[in-house]
Amino acid sequence: MAATLVEKFTGCILGAAIGDALGMPNEDLTLEERDLYYGGEIRDFVDPHKNTPCRFLKAGQYTDDTQLMLATSEALIESKGFDPDSMKRKLIQWLDMKDESRYRGEATKQGIENLKKGIPWQEAGIDKAGCGSATRAIPFGLYYYSNIDEAIKYARLSSCGTHKNNIAKDSAACVAAVISNLTKGRIVQLDYLKQISETIEVKNKLDDVERCLSNSRNIEQGIEEIGNSSIAHEVVGLALFIFWSNTSDFESAVRAGANAVAKGKKGDTDSIACLVGAMSGAYNGIGAIPKKWLNRIENRKTLIKVAEKLF
Ligand SMILES: [Mg+2]
Repeated sequence: MAATLVEKFTGCILGAAIGDALGMPNEDLTLEERDLYYGGEIRDFVDPHKNTPCRFLKAGQYTDDTQLMLATSEALIESKGFDPDSMKRKLIQWLDMKDESRYRGEATKQGIENLKKGIPWQEAGIDKAGCGSATRAIPFGLYYYSNIDEAIKYARLSSCGTHKNNIAKDSAACVAAVISNLTKGRIVQLDYLKQISETIEVKNKLDDVERCLSNSRNIEQGIEEIGNSSIAHEVVGLALFIFWSNTSDFESAVRAGANAVAKGKKGDTDSIACLVGAMSGAYNGIGAIPKKWLNRIENRKTLIKVAEKLF
């Protein structure tokens, strides 16, 4: 039976958190380090190894990506849409928790420090293309699901508070557009994403994704051609490639994202799997997510409540 709209909303938010938690122990590791620490692919929630950036977390916990996705969702719900003041309050609350165990993004922290100093939303962000504002764009695709133009517009604007870089803004816009369409059961065409992107870097990255898909590249080749670093268009591009290579199977798509590591190259596995989980959850609904993960994800009740309120 096809998933209902509310099941797609809960699937998207829970899927994002589960992907984040699954990829967390692999964050910033090379393939060699992952194999050394975990004896191969991570297939379930595990405690992170003591030499990893998220070493203070436990199996099933998520990172800054999900924390900020929740903060963004709460701001959208409370102010009934994008409002920079309400968004700023939520981000400052998050910064002031000083929870470094979540391996928080540097640009995000610096951007919020600027907001705290009173620098206006549009100028506060750092001119760096990290993926922090792209994962934060997930709830824009849900809240504005019926109006894709608004989803894109506000996801871009949301990026400015922490990442005013144009690649980061384009990447956030692509995430919002994709999520909005997936809730409607539509797989966005790459041409459309290229149209809404304003930078040549993101357009080129989408070309890479298209080439990988039409040549049925495997995950290793996808990582090689698209990249798996924490730069926003690599994270978004690789997540699109992984999801589109496997649209119906949540478990194996998210697992591929969480293991997106390569020889000698550190992978942003938590953010990549977070986006894959959001996409697959928005498309297939919460019913497609394995119970073993739904039951063990940190803060499940809050995640469900937030998704229902966005709906
Ligand atoms: Mg993270």
